[in-house]
Amino acid sequence: MKKYFLLTYGCQMNKSDSERISAVLEKIGYKRSSKIDEADLVVVNACSVRQSAIDRISGLRPKIKNKAKTILTGCILSADKKKFGKLFDYILDIKDLPKWPKILSNQPYKDSPRKNYQRIGGAGQRVASCEYFKIQPNYQAWPVAYVPISSGCNNFCAYCCVPYTRGPEVSRRASEIVKEVKELIKDGYKEIWLLGQNVNSYQSYADGPCVVDFPLLLKMADALEGNFWVRFTSPHPKDFSDKLITALKECSKVTPYLNLPVQAGDNEVLKKMNRPYTIEHYKDLVSKIRRAIPGITLSTDIIVGFPGETKKQFLNSAKLFREIKFDMAYIAQFSLRPGTAAANLRDDVPKAEKKRRENVLTEILKKTASVSNKMFIGKTIKVLPLVYKNGTLIGKSQHYKTVKFQGKKDLIGQFVDIKIVKATNFGLLGLYE
Ligand code: SF4
Repeated sequence: MKKYFLLTYGCQMNKSDSERISAVLEKIGYKRSSKIDEADLVVVNACSVRQSAIDRISGLRPKIKNKAKTILTGCILSADKKKFGKLFDYILDIKDLPKWPKILSNQPYKDSPRKNYQRIGGAGQRVASCEYFKIQPNYQAWPVAYVPISSGCNNFCAYCCVPYTRGPEVSRRASEIVKEVKELIKDGYKEIWLLGQNVNSYQSYADGPCVVDFPLLLKMADALEGNFWVRFTSPHPKDFSDKLITALKECSKVTPYLNLPVQAGDNEVLKKMNRPYTIEHYKDLVSKIRRAIPGITLSTDIIVGFPGETKKQFLNSAKLFREIKFDMAYIAQFSLRPGTAAANLRDDVPKAEKKRRENVLTEILKKTASVSNKMFIGKTIKVLPLVYKNGTLIGKSQHYKTVKFQGKKDLIGQFVDIKIVKATNFGLLGLYE
């Protein structure tokens, strides 16, 4: 039996895509292998967002056995496609996944597969279809499941490759999404993530006369019977409507946790990033959300060292961190991606300064997260255990806090009540009673 090795870099959407890639390959007879050097087919599902992912891809080639076929897919900018053209046999668009078996069978193993380059899709390609979402995924993260509800993005944030690599936003039929969620619940999945690059601009016109927007979709998922949580990522602050806040308040299965990417704490920088909101708008939005859902935990995504970001502008990001008091933040040092609008700007913040700014935000985050975590001490909270190691279970709470406690492996996938006894900067320790 032929073996495949699948490597995924990037966000949850890429991970979700890999579950569909895996299903397609297994259907045509490949067996998954955890060793790259024994695979007959190596698939790299990567993301051009970070330079580091691109650098890692370059290092893979020597590990791949000589006659193995290689596929590169994911959110790859055209400049990176050119760079990797010689390293991979195929550079395939994920939206063409239903065609992969045909492509692979048309290119049998032979002398020099690397001569048979075949490229489908590419930067700027516009495919108004979500056909590949119809592929039944090979879910890999039980009891957690990722359900894509849309793909692509129309926002063109200056630093981001997604609008170029995935094309414009296309929403999946609501009925198809609800059907998938229903099946997952039936199969015992407990944490369902609704995914979209701009999840809250979801709009499906394909369900009869009724237009389903994101708040309505959340309500449809929430109304399904069963014991499960709904989470979603990533919403855009500009599309966060009052209707959505009301839906979050009313949906008991949607967890009180929100990742709300701010990207910069300074209005001038936001403008250069092509993020059409102000910090005042962001802060008002957070206040409204916190008023509607008291105790909701909040994380953000932020970039430090965007081209031209002065020390004074960065201090506004630090100020925002102190004011909002995030529970978690995904802090990225700006890296220039050829083909994005920001590539025309001078990457003028030195690496060491970017690192310093990252450290400043991390230190503030540690303090605010620690204060928030201490609020849970003495409380009994619901936790979904996900991983077991040497007698310790690690899981996530409704508020998306990482919780560790002693227990048996068979608790994985069951909601358990945990009494919190200790808080660290980024986690909680508890007792299973
Ligand atoms: S909203 Fe901006 S950062 Fe998010 S996927 Fe779209 S372009 Fe990229």
